[in-house]
Amino acid sequence: MTTTTSTTTSTTTSTTTSATAALVVLGTADRLRRADRELLVLAGTVGETHVVVPDVPGDALLDELAAHAVATVHTPEGGPGDRLTTPAVALAEAAARETGATVLLLPGTPEAKDVAARLGVRLEAGVITDVVALDAGLVATKSVLAGGWTTRCRATSPVLIATVRPNSVEIPADRRTGITTDGTTDGTAAAPDGAPAGARRPRVRTHALEDTVPAARVVGRTELPASGRPALGEARVVVAGGRGTGGDFGPLEQLADALGGAIGASRAAVDAGWVGPEAQVGQTGRTVSPQLYISCGISGAVQQRAGMQTAGTIVAVNKDEQAPVFEIADLGIVGDLKKVLPQAVEHLRALRE
Ligand SMILES: Cc1cc2nc3c(=O)[nH]c(=O)nc-3n(C[C@H](O)[C@H](O)[C@H](O)COP(=O)(O)OP(=O)(O)OC[C@H]3O[C@@H](n4cnc5c(N)ncnc54)[C@H](O)[C@@H]3O)c2cc1C
Repeated sequence: MTTTTSTTTSTTTSTTTSATAALVVLGTADRLRRADRELLVLAGTVGETHVVVPDVPGDALLDELAAHAVATVHTPEGGPGDRLTTPAVALAEAAARETGATVLLLPGTPEAKDVAARLGVRLEAGVITDVVALDAGLVATKSVLAGGWTTRCRATSPVLIATVRPNSVEIPADRRTGITTDGTTDGTAAAPDGAPAGARRPRVRTHALEDTVPAARVVGRTELPASGRPALGEARVVVAGGRGTGGDFGPLEQLADALGGAIGASRAAVDAGWVGPEAQVGQTGRTVSPQLYISCGISGAVQQRAGMQTAGTIVAVNKDEQAPVFEIADLGIVGDLKKVLPQAVEHLRALRE
């Protein structure tokens, strides 16, 4: 059996171990996205916060982490490399053992869930996915069975690993920057970037990891064309369209842009080739938890609900008053989306003038 071993080199002299330490495993060494800040806020409620990043952190990131009172940043020697998942697992394992973290927090992305599962085995830790809240007793709240039930659960192991859905945690005003990595605003109030006066930058620990576990290698990367909209999984507003759009997403895009939102879709719309598969919301698509989900021309099948039922407010536009989506909608509009959406956009624009 192959194993992963790690040796640790350090730019500092001391090792931090805290009885109540939390470790946040970030997928970026660039600027923080809103979902990353939510993890850091949650970690701060647990105890001393440590962070894992996949590459050497820049000054801007260190300043942002200082604003969250992060004690240590753990980074791999030689950068992220071209191996999928296993380097992140090895680094997080080394950081968790060194800091004695009892809570590990990861984003709700498929990649992070892969890391969380492997870490669970390595650390003999309970893994809870899709968490939307974590209380002081480390009892996690999550929604299950296509969003039909909300459960509260606690890991019985000494270490808890949790993946957290975006838009689950309120970010205090003094820790918002309002900018996502793709350069778009995420809807939070703007505040000065960087660390507040007096905040200390975290220590940087560099780990030399010898990772011999077989793993897939990245052989090429293609950037998605920038849409200028926030990422679907992290957007605070999602405007989603289904078969009822007839393939014309224009009115939805105008509404999404008026609200600073992302575009989502039902599987019927994706299968018809009207939008890319990355936009699909539901059981076999993305799970989103925005503050506002506007469902347009979507019937509301259980497989669609599975991906959006935890949204803060659900608005449904459907011309069939019997459509199942109205059972879960906070606000339902019975009407033709081609007439309703342009009126909404016009109204929003008028409000801003
Ligand atoms: C294993 C499995 C996994 C699945 N995974 C997913 C998934 O991840 N996501 C997903 O979405 N589905 C998924 N599905 C499919 C799901 O069951 C539904 O078939 C699908 O969600 C239907 O899409 P829809 O609501 O766009 O289309 P329809 O069910 O055809 O509904 C279209 C709606 O548009 C309304 N409408 C029509 N014209 C207008 C108009 N002009 N203005 C306003 N309203 C109008 C109609 O009244 C109707 O309610 C899955 C199915 C299976 C079996």
